[in-house]
Amino acid sequence: MSLVVLKFGGTSVGNAEKIRHVARVIADVAEQGNRVAAIVSAMGKTTDGLVELAGELVENPSGREYDALLATGEMVSAPLLAMTLTSMGYPAVSLNGQQAGFVTEDLHNRARILEINTGRVQHHLDKGEIVIVTGFQGINSKGDIATLGRGGSDTSAIALAGALGADRCDIYTDVDGVYSADPRVVPEAVRQDDITYIEMLELARVGAKVLHPRAVETARNANVRIRVRSTFDPDNPGTLVSTYGTGGGSEGGQGGEGQSRAVSGIAADKKQVELAMTHVPDQPGIAAQLFGALASNNISVDMIIQSVRQDDNTNDIAFTVDQTDLQDTLTLLEKVKADMGSGEIYYETDVAKVSIVGVGMIDRPGIAADMFKALAQANINLKMISTSEIKISCLIDQAQADDAVRALHRQFFPEAANDEPKLVDAKVGY
Ligand code: ADP
Ligand code: ASP
Ligand code: MG
Repeated sequence: MSLVVLKFGGTSVGNAEKIRHVARVIADVAEQGNRVAAIVSAMGKTTDGLVELAGELVENPSGREYDALLATGEMVSAPLLAMTLTSMGYPAVSLNGQQAGFVTEDLHNRARILEINTGRVQHHLDKGEIVIVTGFQGINSKGDIATLGRGGSDTSAIALAGALGADRCDIYTDVDGVYSADPRVVPEAVRQDDITYIEMLELARVGAKVLHPRAVETARNANVRIRVRSTFDPDNPGTLVSTYGTGGGSEGGQGGEGQSRAVSGIAADKKQVELAMTHVPDQPGIAAQLFGALASNNISVDMIIQSVRQDDNTNDIAFTVDQTDLQDTLTLLEKVKADMGSGEIYYETDVAKVSIVGVGMIDRPGIAADMFKALAQANINLKMISTSEIKISCLIDQAQADDAVRALHRQFFPEAANDEPKLVDAKVGY
């Protein structure tokens, strides 16, 4: 008998009718002779609603209270799903993060899972019950609720699959797989039959929200094969995320015979902020001090540019962070500025980062030039550029982000542009 972990996102359990449908999908998987644990997200836009509500009352709520609030969304959907399954004749039990043994680090709002004590989940599985677990949450060493960061239920599912030694982990969502770009933005986007962990990880990191980056990281470390598939078309095999990918989409690759695609995906992240600090003294150790301060406060810096030295022996340093880190970053920069005697601090939130990702880029010169050409032809100005072996990112005006993704898709998936675009509804279920 196989053990499978399934995960259902917010839109999949958006109302009573959808919860009943999800219960049917789970029951069908159990009927196929599997033991099933399912991770569930909060219903629809519940978490957004809770964020908004907190914002109406306080500007900077404490991490502890914020997490206690946000975790409640999943505590509603999980018992609703369990009671529906039980009423259909499939005995089920719901467990919250603490009951399911999810132990997190002592950090709020984006804690990592340290371990999962699976005894309780195992016990219920052994009794033949379907176990429904709240996603996105765990308990820290102080006994407080901690959440895993927005979109973190994917990570809960993969981590549980790893801890249970499950045979597979299926992520059910409102789209039937991983596409070459967000199909809501690019209607002719191509579905990938399979994709490597490394490419999926980069894509997730640069904004393809179909999977949470830490989920992919966890899957790669624990060697959990992920299938991304549609709740509304459950027989469709979707996209397999694993160590090996063919590099080809459902509709063929761009590289010609025997060659994989150069680019396997395109994504935009509209939640970036660009910060700049002017007149930073040009001497050894300054960058280490600045970025060390950010790192020790758990703030990840993405793109970095240092200007050429100016006449007064200073540089300007610009970089990007996630918008959620803006206030903390500004506070730290003010301190660093006072210590270093540097100039002014500026920031800009109307920016977006567009990226192309693909292992096929390695050793293939000219991909960056093709990217810049496509963006130039679409009249899009580049503010910053960063590259890695398998990724190139450009910071641009936020208002142009969707146009940029479409222009890049035409450049790197030209054959898709000639196809009759499928109805978006055929790809994205609501
Ligand atoms: P869930 O609530 O199930 O976790 P999400 O909204 O977090 O679902 O993620 C699914 C959404 O991700 C899709 O509706 C789609 O708009 C978006 N998306 C972004 N990039 C991609 C991509 N490359 N492939 C598929 N979906 C993508
Ligand atoms: N409910 C949480 C969110 O909206 C976690 C998740 O859905 O993955 O971010
Ligand atoms: Mg999600």
